[in-house]
Amino acid sequence: MVSEAGLNDQWRRVRARLHAELGEATFNSWFRQIELIGVEGNRIMLGVPTRFIRNWLLSHYEERLSTLWSEENPAFTRIDVLVRTRPANMAAGEAPAAPRSVPVAAREREAKPAASPAPVRMQSAPALQVAPSAAPVPPGFEDAGVGAPLDPRFTFDAFVVGKSNELAHAAARRVAEATDVTFNPLFLYGGVGLGKTHLMHAIAWEIRRRQPERKVLYLSAEKFMYQFVRALRFKDTMAFKQQFRTVDVLMIDDVQFISGKDSTQEEFFHTFNALIDHNRQVIISADRSPSDLEGIEERIRSRLGWGLAADIHPTDYELRLGILQAKAEEMASRAGPMVTIPPGVLEFLAHRIVSNVRELEGALKRVVAYASLVGRPITLEMAQDVLRDLLRCNDRRVTIEEIQRRVAEYYNVRLADMLSARRARAVARPRQVAMYLSKQLTTRSLPEIGRKFGGRDHTTVIHAVRKIDELRAADSGMDEDVDLLRRMLEGGGGSS
Ligand code: ADP
Ligand code: MG
Repeated sequence: MVSEAGLNDQWRRVRARLHAELGEATFNSWFRQIELIGVEGNRIMLGVPTRFIRNWLLSHYEERLSTLWSEENPAFTRIDVLVRTRPANMAAGEAPAAPRSVPVAAREREAKPAASPAPVRMQSAPALQVAPSAAPVPPGFEDAGVGAPLDPRFTFDAFVVGKSNELAHAAARRVAEATDVTFNPLFLYGGVGLGKTHLMHAIAWEIRRRQPERKVLYLSAEKFMYQFVRALRFKDTMAFKQQFRTVDVLMIDDVQFISGKDSTQEEFFHTFNALIDHNRQVIISADRSPSDLEGIEERIRSRLGWGLAADIHPTDYELRLGILQAKAEEMASRAGPMVTIPPGVLEFLAHRIVSNVRELEGALKRVVAYASLVGRPITLEMAQDVLRDLLRCNDRRVTIEEIQRRVAEYYNVRLADMLSARRARAVARPRQVAMYLSKQLTTRSLPEIGRKFGGRDHTTVIHAVRKIDELRAADSGMDEDVDLLRRMLEGGGGSS
């Protein structure tokens, strides 16, 4: 039998792992309120405030939760989620009332937010209903704000347009500038960190600027669900409906989170239909296309695709570089001339951080922060050093051999000569270029690179990297050569 303290520790670790896996927002919406109630045989009993959350957890996370628990303690193989009763007339923000019966030992008092309700001991398994005994307090929509705040940085001006996002950008612009409703709904979709939220906020800012009388409401699908659950709990769905049905422009971000067979889906659909029928603009984002949204009813999926569905593709090198240049300029304008980021470093980042724009931005920030903290100038080596972990995940696997072969071919020298001890300029320069590109395009260390070039010393590689950096700045021909080679190698080795 596990001790109370042991159980609490396990629960803390399970929560920490969920938090790390799901991120702050999801964790806060769904997991923050879960309480550990106790253990019964091989079952862990958790308590949640509503039946809705219980169903959602069981349909989405039952397996994950049991796996995490059994990894902590193999004795536990099942998760039970119970709906705990809640002291009456307690609105969020108020102090919890005294528990109505003896609390179970295994609880984390210290880790709980002040407003979380006190759990009630579950004698036998069945889930309890929410049954407030006094008149419920309606949720304060106006005070809490139904919508989410807009990020002041997410404007059209700050959005860099490239091939991968030009359709989505153009559609967003059109919707923001139009006085009538054109595409309804506008459905923006694409992978994480590619600018969906940015574009939605940009639309909202632009409409506010041009037509301040229009009521724009932006919120995440999770927040929509959360508001709805609250309204249900406080039996105030009328006010909820009113809130949404009086807006001129409704934006719901990350709609893939409205899934599962829930009343929220139904409500979302009604709200959505009502707005479209009244010719109000609806803008939706998701991480996949309407037809790929699993767990959402067919009629809703098809209706989501009635307007314009614009997808954002993964970024290409040019766009990544453009975004980095824009961000670097913005940083420099704020931080002053202290921060100079050599173009080679931006190219390096654009080449190597391919996952998404959020990571790209994060990488740049980290390099700049590091440089200003330790008071060192930003160089390629330093960037590689600071971003080692990130780079490993984004590894593109261009090999040094491939680089050597390409460079030799490009400069029309023999590969064997390039790797030999010969110092003639005709082979020495291409060798330096190949070393430079090896440093830029692979995760190999300086000594490793040196070894691959006929067993040279790492200082020779450092020298080569500096030399080529200098030459690129001074000689546009050299700059073009290196750029062309990089592109060829980035293209995966096919002929250019
Ligand atoms: P998503 O909502 O698609 O997951 P976000 O809109 O949150 O992605 O974008 C992630 C980050 O990347 C934000 O800081 C955003 O400003 C930035 N970003 C994404 N695309 C661009 C772009 N084309 N130009 C400038 N910044 C961008
Ligand atoms: Mg987003």
